[in-house]
Amino acid sequence: MQSCVFCKIVAGEIPCKKIYEDDALFAFEDVNPAAPIHILIIPKKHMETLHEIQDADKELIGSIFVAANEIARKQGIAQEGFRIVANCGENGGQTVFHIHYHLLGGRRMEWPPG
Ligand code: AMP
Ligand code: ZN
Repeated sequence: MQSCVFCKIVAGEIPCKKIYEDDALFAFEDVNPAAPIHILIIPKKHMETLHEIQDADKELIGSIFVAANEIARKQGIAQEGFRIVANCGENGGQTVFHIHYHLLGGRRMEWPPG
């Protein structure tokens, strides 16, 4: 999608600190980190919200969590733990409308989220 910031990152039109890439996924550091480690994992395919996920996307979405495990291991936060967050829509606090999963680590997280 032409106007989408994350599609532009995948296309190399907006710079990022790339962490991971495969055929279907891309991961990069969040520009405004909320934790010592804050990485966004996204499908390359443009999908606006989690609410668009369908049966055909099961494998793609599952692969995000496998990639998250690999990234967490490489970032050294697998043992101590981490948090994965995905915000959906206005009430979910979503600000970029291309599905993304926040991988947060390097500090103790609190609950409940704000
Ligand atoms: P959300 O509020 O869940 O939609 O999260 C969007 C995230 O994208 C925020 O944490 C932003 O800091 C991050 N973000 C926005 N633009 C960029 C960018 N160009 N590069 C890296 N992260 C970004
Ligand atoms: Zn997009």
